Amino acid sequence: MDLDYIKQLDSENVIQNYARYNVAFNQGSGSLLYDTEGREYIDFASGIGVISVGHANPHWVKAVSEQAGRLAHVSNLFYTEPYVVLADRLTDLSAMKAVFFANSGAEANEGAIKIARKYSNDKYGDDRFVIITLNQSFHGRTMATLTATGQPAHHKYFYPFVEGFRYIPPNDIKALNDALDDKVCAVMLEGIQGEGGVNPLDREYLKELVEIISERDVLLILDEVQTGIGRTGDMFCYQGLDINPDIVTLAKGLGGGLPIAAVLVNDKCRDTLSHGTHGTTYGGNLICCAAANAVLDIVSEPGFLDQVTIKGNRIIEAIKGWNNPLIVEVRGKGLMIGIQLKDIEPKKVVAELLERGLITLTAGTDVLRLLPPLTITEEEIDKGLEILRVYLKEKNSGR
Ligand SMILES: *Cc1c(COP(=O)(O)O)cnc(C)c1O
Repeated sequence: MDLDYIKQLDSENVIQNYARYNVAFNQGSGSLLYDTEGREYIDFASGIGVISVGHANPHWVKAVSEQAGRLAHVSNLFYTEPYVVLADRLTDLSAMKAVFFANSGAEANEGAIKIARKYSNDKYGDDRFVIITLNQSFHGRTMATLTATGQPAHHKYFYPFVEGFRYIPPNDIKALNDALDDKVCAVMLEGIQGEGGVNPLDREYLKELVEIISERDVLLILDEVQTGIGRTGDMFCYQGLDINPDIVTLAKGLGGGLPIAAVLVNDKCRDTLSHGTHGTTYGGNLICCAAANAVLDIVSEPGFLDQVTIKGNRIIEAIKGWNNPLIVEVRGKGLMIGIQLKDIEPKKVVAELLERGLITLTAGTDVLRLLPPLTITEEEIDKGLEILRVYLKEKNSGR
């Protein structure tokens, strides 16, 4: 099918909730994508951090196709091997003690919210259910996670929202103390806010936050849907932040392209969910777990995460070296990078870079976000950066 026909079928038959760019992709390899016209693109977005080990990664393809040819799904009424192997590996790689498998980031966060509330309900009774989240956070699109998302722009149309969420500004201990009362059961946050603008939280703030809330037995839910599985150069972002969360959620990069998510819990919450209190039909699906196991094979290879850090630093240093006045700040960690811009709309930048063969993302209102596959090569990085450098230079001199 060509682009026009695909667009026609989309507009005739698909709910128009997405504003898509004028491209249809049909093939990928490593950090390269190809559209229906055969044009090549460098992928600095990896499907919003999903394609962690590159497009059509041979190890991943082999694991997925072998599993698909053997057994795809049996339901959670039975034991199977891929999910127990994956759970064993995830608990080994983290400081966490047990796992629940879901299918999307929002769903993992729903699970985390339910676990936090039940933990509190079991121990302290009915009246301790409030979850504190941060301004500019993003936690998903289901009713509860949309409510948890600390962006007023999302709190429209879908009334009534779920009760029991409170928002505070990030990096502000006083605001945290003011928001904490006997009703609070958890704080939920991202170590680096992704959708909100690639905003890393202060290390000192996080350490102090953990001290304050753990004294009150208020749980820390760390949303690692975007930051997890090597994205920041640590297997989990919290490992680089030196804090111990009670609940961690994963999705995006975990499956390397197939929908899988996970909720990891520590000792405290290990037994909170008992038989029948939570579940999902696809959770622990054999093909998705095989995909995630293949991702972990690659990401946990010795030296792999060091390479993520090296590549990330290289990108950040290169961009800083351009000294382009349109760039206000370059921030982030590993291969999660935000370029704060001024006098130019990130949305427009993404669209125009796409025309030049580079795929990027926006974040917040004024940030261009880069989330390349963790396996991207230095050559591909340099090629992509050159497109970006020339583009921003032209835009600056054309002002
Ligand atoms: C993308 C994202 C989500 C939502 O994940 P979905 O798979 O789209 O439901 C939640 N939290 C964070 C931090 C994310 O980046």
